[in-house]
Amino acid sequence: MYKRQLLARRPSFSHDVRPDLLGTPIVEPLTRRFIDSGEESTHVRTQSPLDGEERVYAFQRVGDLPLVVVVGEEIAVLLAGWYHRLWILGVVVLLIAALGGLALRHYLNRLSLEAELRRRVIEARHAEQELRIAATAFETHLGMLITDAEATILRVNDTFTRITGYREDEVVGRNPSMLSSGRHDVSFYDKLWKSVREQGNWQGEIWNRRKNGEVFPEWLTISAVSNDEGEVTHYVATLSDISERKAAEQEIHQLAFFDPLTGLPNRRLLMDRLEVAMKDSYRSGQFAALLFIDLDHFKQINDTLGHYLGDQLLQALALRLNGVLRDTDTLSRLGGDEFALLLHDLGTEQEHAAHISERVSGKLLGMLASPVTFDHQSITVTTSMGITLFRDHGTSLDEVLQQADMALFQAKQAGRNTLRFFDPDMQAQIQVRARLETGLRQALSRDEFRLFYQVQVNAAGETLGVEGLLRWEHPEHGIVSPAEFIPLAEENGLIVGIGAWVLETACRQLSAWASDPAMAALVISVNVSPRQFREADFVERVLCILDATGAPAERLKLEVTESLFMEERDDARAKMLRLRERGVRFALDDFGTGYSSLSYLKQLPMDELKIDQSFVRTLFEDDAGAAIVASTIALSKSLSLVAVAEGVETEAQRDWLLAHGCRTFQGYLFGRPVPVESLPFPD
Ligand code: C2E
Ligand code: CA
Ligand code: CA
Repeated sequence: MYKRQLLARRPSFSHDVRPDLLGTPIVEPLTRRFIDSGEESTHVRTQSPLDGEERVYAFQRVGDLPLVVVVGEEIAVLLAGWYHRLWILGVVVLLIAALGGLALRHYLNRLSLEAELRRRVIEARHAEQELRIAATAFETHLGMLITDAEATILRVNDTFTRITGYREDEVVGRNPSMLSSGRHDVSFYDKLWKSVREQGNWQGEIWNRRKNGEVFPEWLTISAVSNDEGEVTHYVATLSDISERKAAEQEIHQLAFFDPLTGLPNRRLLMDRLEVAMKDSYRSGQFAALLFIDLDHFKQINDTLGHYLGDQLLQALALRLNGVLRDTDTLSRLGGDEFALLLHDLGTEQEHAAHISERVSGKLLGMLASPVTFDHQSITVTTSMGITLFRDHGTSLDEVLQQADMALFQAKQAGRNTLRFFDPDMQAQIQVRARLETGLRQALSRDEFRLFYQVQVNAAGETLGVEGLLRWEHPEHGIVSPAEFIPLAEENGLIVGIGAWVLETACRQLSAWASDPAMAALVISVNVSPRQFREADFVERVLCILDATGAPAERLKLEVTESLFMEERDDARAKMLRLRERGVRFALDDFGTGYSSLSYLKQLPMDELKIDQSFVRTLFEDDAGAAIVASTIALSKSLSLVAVAEGVETEAQRDWLLAHGCRTFQGYLFGRPVPVESLPFPD
């Protein structure tokens, strides 16, 4: 005759077990047996049907209510001798075995209609009942509230009183809406009750108000209890105070979105708001502005004053700035001495919007420039500001940031302590870059790349090999130098595909030369950019290209730069070793411009050091450069590496290099980079 329904469980379902168990019938045989037995209480040791943990369970009927409370504690914990405290902390499973049919209706009618009598009964049994209830978790940290079908409160427990501040006699007969905080709108409660009606329960976070007026967050579970005919007769609510958890969440939020020094929104939050502002301005047609604010020479101030005062200065300035802004403006600290300000709703006229933002930033500039006093010191800082207006949906978030940054750069260039608007010239530069990028994306598929070759010669002037140098044959601009597009391709990742094309082209050339005795001994050096080399499948790609083209691996030399070994050097070394196994050789390009660790260099399978052309060019102008070249040559000797001098343009340079022990050269003196058919070799 019992309905045996699971009404609530603690810990809450939201974290561990499935929430959809609420309201479902109880199948666990021991529990069913206890419910049907009519016994007052019992103990069993069994596995939880919900999470599989083995626990000791105490079953307890709750007074004359149709409720059974089951308290479970893990064996290990019990054995540790903590049971008194931990029974309370432990898992509490609250079950309801709602009486079926007439018995239930009879009981419930009595509850609601004979409230007076019920209270007397409660009073009469008070002592006895309290003893029993205290032994269960019903009176521990889960607040409980039971209402009739009309949501009139019939009963609450002590925890309810502890959480809300209301005694039982203050709430019985009233509606739970007396607790509402006013923080949720009507639709929130509509949804809640809809869920209770349709699914039989609801759980979630809700803000309620305590008797002392304090608004607090609680985790609330509401279950409908229905009779055999499916009519709802009661509601049982359990609640726990989650203010502490909320406070912790709030702290995490604070850390994630606010700068700890100034309490201002951080870069992340600014990006969010900027995105919203862009959407808003698109919708409303109103301009918005982004200002980048940067303190002039802050590093010097920080160094002379010390970081403590530097921090205080930043705090003071942040406070000043924040003091004059509207609530809707977002001032944020991007890091260091950089701030950003987002201004909304500047009207639909560009000129007007520019005027307002200029006025605001002018005011800020002036305000920031007045001295800040700590103890006895008075410090004056000036600032530079870059401003950009935006409205058009055609601009992306990145573009807006870029524009503000560019304007700030111009302000700095203009001598600081000033502000600059992003202007069309800057726009033009950005557009050139954007067009270059678009063109670059299509260049591969349109077959616009060419691989030129520049010879490398020995002391006798005989050709040892060539370096492959990439050219982009642009349909409008003609030949574009790699210096113009390689950095961009590195940034946007296109270099990976482009680099693969270069490798394949060079390998095909090697393969073609292999069958020609005059060319078969030539080596091709290929430049590999760090981004390309760091690709996880770089080694596989190279091996695959070697296989596909049938190129002799010993004739392929990869030119890498020192920056490759700045980070993840062991990974880079491992890749080199795998390629070396296959016969591929390596040259360290632009040597002398980076900061290679010599001890590490020794561990790499390197064949060649290429002396950077900037040193060769200034050989006779710069004593230090000459010294670097001389010591690089000596270093390669001691490491058994071949030293290659790049950018050799004159006989004098070649002779000097020869005299200092360099035997391999590359430069205009011997040949410029040219298409393969123009190489000075026999056909
Ligand atoms: P790099 O590897 O240092 O290449 C040598 C550069 O010096 C080439 O410029 C070459 O044309 C130039 N050069 C050679 N001899 C002389 C000389 O006597 N005098 C002067 N003034 N310059 C000389 P280029 O071809 O414009 O290449 C520039 C850079 O672009 C290369 O510097 C390399 O870092 C990069 N690059 C070129 N092709 C590729 C490629 O296929 N892949 C990658 N990742 N980078 C490449
Ligand atoms: Ca090179
Ligand atoms: Ca070089």
